[in-house]
Amino acid sequence: MAKQIGIIFILLLNTVPLTAQQSFHRNLKLMGSGFQITVVVKDSTEANRAIDLAIKEISRIEKLISSWDPNSETTEINKNAGIKAVKVSAELYNLIERAIGLSGLTDGAFDISYASMDKIWKFDGSMKKMPSKEEIESSVAKVGFQKIILDSRNKTVFLKDKGMKIGFGAIGKGYAADQAKALLLKNNVQAGIINASGDMNTWGRQPNGNEWTVAITNPLNKTKAAAVLPISDGAVVTSGNYEKFVQFNGIRYAHIIDPRTGYPATGILSVTVFAPKAELADALATSVFVMGIETGLNRINQLPKVECVIIDEKGKVFTSDNIEIDRI
Ligand code: ADP
Ligand code: MG
Repeated sequence: MAKQIGIIFILLLNTVPLTAQQSFHRNLKLMGSGFQITVVVKDSTEANRAIDLAIKEISRIEKLISSWDPNSETTEINKNAGIKAVKVSAELYNLIERAIGLSGLTDGAFDISYASMDKIWKFDGSMKKMPSKEEIESSVAKVGFQKIILDSRNKTVFLKDKGMKIGFGAIGKGYAADQAKALLLKNNVQAGIINASGDMNTWGRQPNGNEWTVAITNPLNKTKAAAVLPISDGAVVTSGNYEKFVQFNGIRYAHIIDPRTGYPATGILSVTVFAPKAELADALATSVFVMGIETGLNRINQLPKVECVIIDEKGKVFTSDNIEIDRI
């Protein structure tokens, strides 16, 4: 959500079209954030049909994973924390299973059970003082992906402790973008972009044959790009703490919580991750915030087809091993 300005998309002028395809886009609000859906098709009728399909798919996923919606499967799991296992759809079950896999991959930096911490850390401007050490300790005691109990045969999810809660804030938009892209590909849309408020999932090329291009904003000067990169088929996601954060005693606390300590991540301004899938990129961008620069880069360098760009609090840029950026 904080990321609309995190990445700006540069659509190069289409001077000599190679085909009759054109690019169409629509902006709208979905999952509480600004989405822009771009499709490359032959006319506006086709574009509207394709965009409507994508919207329907994203809204369907929102209903499944929202922890605000009193009727979602996710709410049902949270309501029954410490009480009983809840039977869920295969889709939600699989998403939770993958999320737990990502916790393993990031040594617990990524953890959907971070969500019970939202009782004490609020990033909507309502927080006036730092929570006490005791409050943080008792709250973080309820966090831990090891306490999410899955039963694969019965497709049930059980949160072991009362007060536990799961939330998909760091993975849901990425998953929705992957699903929307897959659905459009299945419907013969050869190129496009699902931009979930800065979580970008692209495929194909621009109508003029050029690759899509993304610019990473310099978090210290939002009117200036820090880097420009081409991307043709894959996802690029930025997690930034330059909009959603609180500041106490001169320290800026991001809306991303270290599930192991209960304190928000500090020191990094933005993390951009490139990966084949938006779900992975989304989760890893959040995780690198928590892991910090050195551990984060090490972990990213071990993963095939995944790259990242980190900008620290002083505006210094760090990149993973196999990425070349045109610094401006
Ligand atoms: P954005 O809010 O801009 O989409 P992110 O993708 O980084 O940014 O997601 C941050 C959100 O992820 C937080 O608002 C919160 O809902 C959730 N979150 C915070 N800390 C963690 C964590 N350690 N693991 C998983 N999810 C987290
Ligand atoms: Mg994320």
